[in-house]
Amino acid sequence: MIKIDPHAWDTMVAHAEAKYPNECCGAMLGSIGIGRIDDGQKLVSQAVPIENAYAGAQGARYELRPEDLLEADRRARAAGLDLIGIFHSHPDCDAYFSKTDLENSCPWYSFVVLSVKGGKFDHAASFLPNPDQTAAEKEELIWPKS
Ligand SMILES: [Zn+2]
Repeated sequence: MIKIDPHAWDTMVAHAEAKYPNECCGAMLGSIGIGRIDDGQKLVSQAVPIENAYAGAQGARYELRPEDLLEADRRARAAGLDLIGIFHSHPDCDAYFSKTDLENSCPWYSFVVLSVKGGKFDHAASFLPNPDQTAAEKEELIWPKS
C-alpha cells in the first residue's frame, strides 16, 4: 500500500496539470513502515517535479535523466527520507501501466500514474513492476479525497 500526503499530492497534481497535454514526471520521497502494524506501508511526504527529458513528442512519453533521479535520491537522504517511487502523467489517457512504462521501470520503486483529462486530474493508480520488468501488479494507492 502506498499513501500520499496532501501536500505531496497537491504538488503532483499541479505538476501533471501544468504540463498537460505533455506527460510530466517526478520523484516521490517518503518513508517505508517497519513494524508489526505498518510493515512495508509506504508514505509519500514530498513530491519533487522533474523535467521530462524525452527528446521527442512528450504527449505519450517521458524520460528521467539518471542525474536528476540521483539528485532526488540525495535530497531524500538529506531530509531523512527514501526515494520511494516515480510518478508520471497520462494526458487524456487512463492510469494504466504501458509496455513502455514497464520497459523503463525499475522493480524497487512504486510507479504512480496520474490520468489527466482535458487538463484536469481524473484518477490515479500505482504499479509495482516485477524484477524481470515483464509485468506490473497494481498496488493499493491512497491519495487525499480518494
Ligand atoms: Zn506511462
